[in-house]
Amino acid sequence: MNTQVQEALEQLKNTGVRITPQRHAILTFLLDSMTHPTADDIYRALAPQYPSMSVATIYNNLKMFVEAGLVRELTYGDNSSRFDADLSSHYHAICQKCGKIVDFNYPALYEVERAAAEQTGFAVSGHRMEIYGVCPTCAEKK
Ligand code: ZN
Ligand code: MN
Repeated sequence: MNTQVQEALEQLKNTGVRITPQRHAILTFLLDSMTHPTADDIYRALAPQYPSMSVATIYNNLKMFVEAGLVRELTYGDNSSRFDADLSSHYHAICQKCGKIVDFNYPALYEVERAAAEQTGFAVSGHRMEIYGVCPTCAEKK
């Protein structure tokens, strides 16, 4: 078990959440995958090992992880939320053909928050940016 999973499980235990084998599996899958899966994606990946687990169970567990601050929920206007266990500050590039989401960093953008705070007097808590385009794999398929 990697230390990230261990830490996340510790954190859950401290909030009084029981660690079931399913919860363990969902969390491990999320931490191991950098693909920003939907509840459905996780369901399809785990169904062979956990046939009794439903999409609803997975979704409820994901919501619980989000509330516990272990996972970030990403909404992009469609009705299937995606989940990201990488809590570091980063942005996402989204492929308009296959829906793939890829992480990237651009620290200079924090200047935007400072400028917004200065010009509006707001206590700025964050900002959101997505980049849209076609991923290299899809571009090659043409
Ligand atoms: Zn693509
Ligand atoms: Mn991400």
